[in-house]
Amino acid sequence: TPSVSATPSPTESPEKLQVALTFEDGPDIYTERLLNALEAQNAKATFFVVGDAASDFPDTVNRILDSGNELGNHTYSHETLTSLDVDDIPYQINDLNQVIEQLTGSTTSLLRPPHGSVNETVQENCDDPIILWSLDSDDNDTHDIGKIVQKVLENVEDGDIIRMHDTYETSVAAAEILITELQNQGFELVTVSELAESKNVTLESGKIYKSF
Ligand code: ZN
Repeated sequence: TPSVSATPSPTESPEKLQVALTFEDGPDIYTERLLNALEAQNAKATFFVVGDAASDFPDTVNRILDSGNELGNHTYSHETLTSLDVDDIPYQINDLNQVIEQLTGSTTSLLRPPHGSVNETVQENCDDPIILWSLDSDDNDTHDIGKIVQKVLENVEDGDIIRMHDTYETSVAAAEILITELQNQGFELVTVSELAESKNVTLESGKIYKSF
């Protein structure tokens, strides 16, 4: 039965520290470098992709899936869903899924609304869980690698969903450092779905999640 329980069973091993790195707006020319770093460190991440970028980097989209990382939906054209006519919301989600299905044969099952903009109308017109974040690396605002790394390392907690963008070289360089540093601090880097499962959370359509 899908239930959320805070009580660990006696046989459960001690709780592991886990976080989910998430990357928006790609793939881009830096994504392969990021996948190399994840693979080398046996770490996983979640990539919330958009339509044009996915079409431009079909091999990267497939590599994300084939390497055990997770693909999420960031809408077809990065529209602010709360500003759209209600009828257009499903198109933004479904059009991205059509691109992904053509490229990979599978579809996404997580939504990250662009800019994190969400309201009840979006929630009611979305068939996927809505994945926001608990820790923003601010890599959209600063392209200072040290500041991005510092923001994450000073604030990271077990169960965090960390927001980054694989569309900047500085973000990917920061991610390379963060993968190593977070692992050194005892954090396992897992996908969003793995993090939810590990924390005994059953993801529900239209529900908003910021951390687990
Ligand atoms: Zn975005």
